[in-house]
Amino acid sequence: MTTVQTIPETVPGTSPVPRPRQLVSTLPVYSKAGGTVPPRWRASSNESFLPPSPPVLAAIDAAARHCQQYPTLQGDPLVAALSRGLGVAEDQVVAGAGSLAVLQQLLTAFAGPGKNVVFAWRSYEAYPILVRLTGARDIQVPLTAAHTHDLPAMASAVTADTAAVILCSPNNPTGTVLAAAALEDILVRIPSHVLVVLDQAYLEFTDDAGASSQHSLALLAAHPNLVLLRTFSKAYGLAGLRAGYLVAGEDIAAAVRAVSPPFGLNKVAEAAAVAALADTKALDATVSTVREGRAALHAAFTACGLHLPDSGGNFLWLPVGDGAASLEAACLAESVSVRSFAGEGVRVTVGSRDAEAAVLRAVEAWLAD
Ligand SMILES: *Cc1c(COP(=O)(O)O)cnc(C)c1O
Repeated sequence: MTTVQTIPETVPGTSPVPRPRQLVSTLPVYSKAGGTVPPRWRASSNESFLPPSPPVLAAIDAAARHCQQYPTLQGDPLVAALSRGLGVAEDQVVAGAGSLAVLQQLLTAFAGPGKNVVFAWRSYEAYPILVRLTGARDIQVPLTAAHTHDLPAMASAVTADTAAVILCSPNNPTGTVLAAAALEDILVRIPSHVLVVLDQAYLEFTDDAGASSQHSLALLAAHPNLVLLRTFSKAYGLAGLRAGYLVAGEDIAAAVRAVSPPFGLNKVAEAAAVAALADTKALDATVSTVREGRAALHAAFTACGLHLPDSGGNFLWLPVGDGAASLEAACLAESVSVRSFAGEGVRVTVGSRDAEAAVLRAVEAWLAD
């Protein structure tokens, strides 16, 4: 006997419409900087304060002249350059359209319905979106009173269904850095079948030796479940072009490559990233300007009577709690955008001396109010 599928009759005037998966309506929304008038200065998105350097612009221009051609399938020239620079095999590197895209591919390959992913909260606001998108559950472990990852609590939150633990160091938005010993300790405590993703978007700005690139690459050699996530959006100043990558064991990298869209890294972004990687002078100048501005602004905020954590990133976190909205308004009144998280605090990007001065004026006015 054949079964005939019945097609539901449509009520006239009420044709069914395509419905997205149910989880789509549960996704948190990535926040935007507030304000209606475009501010004069931007301190809201942790972008670089500098435009691309002349050699990077030249590479962008040269690549743009060949945009009628597809890029390489997997960002091969960038992968080769990264492999040489980092001293890892090319098979261990996966490049993509920003580190967020690469993280999404990693989670697509390893997480899904029935699984969970553990991360600190507050941390990067993209994590719950990307985790839930896979159908996995997010387990958010509150930061300590010192605004840093509660590593023992995160290790305890791991269950038999945990696909990954995401660590963000320096943590966005609090800036706190995981010390070398703490990282080594949690890698020993987390079962070897659980991915440990170390998001190092701000790695270059840190002056803590424990958070160095070398140290994390050494950890990678000892812990095959570790994944390092890095980007060209921050210290390399290419946020608008979208280029990022991960470094992992060859099997993990192969799984991520298998779920990555072909030609995911565009030709211009790829050329710019290769050139930015070679322009160590520009990187050093960016990093030292950020470190100087960060120290000066931290000291100025402290002199105002504010308590804030030390930051390893190109930003500072002002944990002003319920004052977040009014402080953001004070900043907008000084024509500088910042990122506020209601009831928690305000994150201020460092690097532009004009933006830093405007934020300081805003903080002084806000405190006087
Ligand atoms: C900015 C940022 C990224 C970078 O994302 P891209 O997609 O590479 O621009 C990743 N992780 C954290 C924690 C960030 O703050």
